[in-house]
Amino acid sequence: MAIERTLSIIKPDAVAKNVIGKIYSRFESNGLKIVAAKLAWLSPQEAGAFYAVHKERPFFNDLVSFMISGPVMIQVLEGEGAIAKNRELMGATDPKKAEPGTIRADFAESIDANAVHGSDGEDTAKVEIAFFFPAMSVYAGR
Ligand code: GDP
Repeated sequence: MAIERTLSIIKPDAVAKNVIGKIYSRFESNGLKIVAAKLAWLSPQEAGAFYAVHKERPFFNDLVSFMISGPVMIQVLEGEGAIAKNRELMGATDPKKAEPGTIRADFAESIDANAVHGSDGEDTAKVEIAFFFPAMSVYAGR
């Protein structure tokens, strides 16, 4: 499988629960390396632009309000099949339907406050990484 990069966000609920380290540990123990990271408190404009694909959805306003309710931890994960691997570690969008042992099953409360975001494909991963990180701030190895 190819080495990929994917964008991950630890959402305000999980940052507030003080579980950034526990979630990072899941990434690291499953072969995903953190190659860029920053803590940020998104503005309504930034959150709206990031989730622009969901603009027409009934939950868009709730999603943006939630994403700006506190700081988020944003990272680029790198590893073999990183996009699918991260989605597998995250679990289903609705934590009640997430497999036991997944991040959302263990740390999330509801479909709004669902602990993490992860890119869902190669194209979105590229766009989402570029949205938050200029190329030179992503560790490329030596
Ligand atoms: P994800 O890729 O698993 O995060 O899910 P989506 O890309 O489909 O949706 C983006 C985010 O919008 C999700 O993580 C949820 O926080 C939120 N969301 C998705 N579907 C719903 C819904 O039906 N109701 C509400 N309230 N939020 C939703």
